[in-house]
Amino acid sequence: MIQISALPAFTDNYIWLLQDHRTQRCAVVDPGDAAPVQAWLAAHPGWVLSDILITHHHHDHVGGVEQLKKATDATVYGPASESIPEREVALKDNDRVSVLGWDFDVFAVPGHTLGHIAYYHHGLLFCGDTLFAAGCGRLFEGTPEQMHTSLTRLAALPEDTLVYCTHEYTLSNLKFAAAVEPENPDTAERLAKVTQQRAAGLMTLPSTLALEKLTNPFLRVDETSVKEKVDERNGPDNRAPSAVFAALRAWKDTF
Ligand code: ZN
Ligand code: FE
Repeated sequence: MIQISALPAFTDNYIWLLQDHRTQRCAVVDPGDAAPVQAWLAAHPGWVLSDILITHHHHDHVGGVEQLKKATDATVYGPASESIPEREVALKDNDRVSVLGWDFDVFAVPGHTLGHIAYYHHGLLFCGDTLFAAGCGRLFEGTPEQMHTSLTRLAALPEDTLVYCTHEYTLSNLKFAAAVEPENPDTAERLAKVTQQRAAGLMTLPSTLALEKLTNPFLRVDETSVKEKVDERNGPDNRAPSAVFAALRAWKDTF
């Protein structure tokens, strides 16, 4: 049995901590800062950090790796096509790695960055800055078409998959989702719930793919309601889903 919890970092990052209670070994995903991980290890004597999983090269995801490598014997996994500090296992699309005795499938999900990867183990998805709760990452390196393809691939995973993304952006994402789909009752309901959670200082993650499909406009570019909204802003053009996605992403950038 592996337990998953969040170590908050910076203002809105979560470093996901995976704990194997049988062996007292643990792993972290995207440690942008070493301090929260080292504080947790210091507070939990007997636990050994054995693995560090990296989704992409941005500093808020890799900033703590070098210090953690100095302090532990953890193995660092990361995308083959990006520069990742201390990376020992270079991963590409459809690779499979074993971490804490669990198999993780590696998916290439270009868009936010070109080499971005996600890690999937039956029902659990660690997707970095690709799919967010009610949103998606900005396109720093990839094209809208690449990101649309990446999100479509993640959305094809089982509906009960838990989505562990890196940032607490859910509330601002839902405000945008409600602007895109003002008539979507699931979006309104989720916005009300997340507003309460954030007012109480609670984390809104993980999400599920089922909930994302109901409320995340970036996974709903095939829906008439989303397409009509884009048409309303940009003029009707019988746009392909990837073009609807591109228009949505551009709108969100200035929302
Ligand atoms: Zn990033
Ligand atoms: Fe990030």
